[in-house]
Amino acid sequence: MDLGYGPEHEAFRAEVREFLESEWGRDGAPAEPERERRESEFRRKATGRGYLNRGVPRRYGGSEQTPDVLRAQIIREEFGRARAPLEVPGAGMMMVVPTLLECGAEWQKEHFIPPTVAGEYRWAQGYSEPGAGSDLASLKTRAERVGDEWTIHGQKIWTSYAREADYFFMLVRTEPDAPKHAGISYLLVPADQPGIEIQPLKQITGESQFNQVFFDGARTPADWIVGERGQGWQVSRTTLRHERGHIGGADRSLQLWNSLMRLAGRSRCGDSPALDDPRIRDLMVQVLGYLRAQEYSGFTLLTRAARGQEAGLLETTSKLQYSRIAALISKLALQLIGDSSLLAPGLQPERGDERWLNQFMGSLGMAIAGGTSNIQRNLVAERGLGLPRDAPVRGEPSAAE
Ligand SMILES: Cc1cc2nc3c(=O)[nH]c(=O)nc-3n(C[C@H](O)[C@H](O)[C@H](O)COP(=O)(O)OP(=O)(O)OC[C@H]3O[C@@H](n4cnc5c(N)ncnc54)[C@H](O)[C@@H]3O)c2cc1C
Repeated sequence: MDLGYGPEHEAFRAEVREFLESEWGRDGAPAEPERERRESEFRRKATGRGYLNRGVPRRYGGSEQTPDVLRAQIIREEFGRARAPLEVPGAGMMMVVPTLLECGAEWQKEHFIPPTVAGEYRWAQGYSEPGAGSDLASLKTRAERVGDEWTIHGQKIWTSYAREADYFFMLVRTEPDAPKHAGISYLLVPADQPGIEIQPLKQITGESQFNQVFFDGARTPADWIVGERGQGWQVSRTTLRHERGHIGGADRSLQLWNSLMRLAGRSRCGDSPALDDPRIRDLMVQVLGYLRAQEYSGFTLLTRAARGQEAGLLETTSKLQYSRIAALISKLALQLIGDSSLLAPGLQPERGDERWLNQFMGSLGMAIAGGTSNIQRNLVAERGLGLPRDAPVRGEPSAAE
């Protein structure tokens, strides 16, 4: 098996490395507040060179590159190695920009995309509600057209980073009499207004990234709707077709694995180094097996994408694989840090171990966010393997919609 990317792409890798050495250096990011300024300056240069924001047209602040999955993968690998920042993190770049590029009106693209690419507009995703998670189309938050505006009433929940957001992109019911999927619209809504109340939810880690958001007569202009009225469900299904973002995605699993190796290297089991303990070695080899499987699935996906072939079942299994590996690695790390893992977050010794507890708790959420593992398994079974559909839950099939 040849795992090289070929001479043309390896030359591109050398060019990316050279850029990173001269523009980012070996020291990584400085501390706040200098960090933010340095990252944004670096992103601007990296976009100018065609390394970041590749699927976004130049007129909206992107670098408008021809789709090339191998180049995209090399950029991820090299930026990851140099610990250099990729695109501005968060829901804006991940979801709003691709959605607007595909379904937005021209004025919406011009108005919202450039500041989102530059990290000036921050977004929160208002999809989930207390009675609508996996079965999202049951959502009840409603918007009524009153004159030149939409007026919104209802409640969203689990809204990540709502307090930091400038805008929400949200799904609302605009046609109460239509069948449930047909009655939904996709709205953009300013966050800072009297009709919106945001209440933080305390998480198991002690942090509050989640919120519940109450809409009581919140307003947004009539033309801040993406796609047609009643077509919000189709708009919300939009994915980035310009360039497949995270094909394979073993990068994050590898980073976690490397941290685990460092932890195991400095930990002890009784009198011996942890890495000499046969029980620890056995558990680590099991994790490594899953990791290698994810890596090789990633290579297969890359090959298929480079040949213009469909990803098939492997794309569906990616998130499932990562959630499982992250949970296994952080569980094993808790075993290695021993008694420290019993302390509440914030009370742990300053050994850098605290983040493993957070990592473990975060891995529980990872198996829920963006579609639970059960739903992913149903998708693999039904769409991937063609098995019969699961019995409907609460009267509605949801996994294969
Ligand atoms: C870290 C994190 C960040 C999030 N950020 C956001 C955000 O920013 N914005 C937002 O809108 N939402 C966000 N969410 C919410 C997330 O999308 C929902 O939690 C998720 O869709 C599941 O919905 P639920 O919590 O209502 O669980 P439910 O849908 O009630 O599911 C409960 C359990 O039942 C199982 N289940 C449900 N239906 C089926 C079925 N048909 N077949 C088999 N099993 C089933 C599920 O797998 C799960 O185990 C976030 C969640 C997490 C954990």
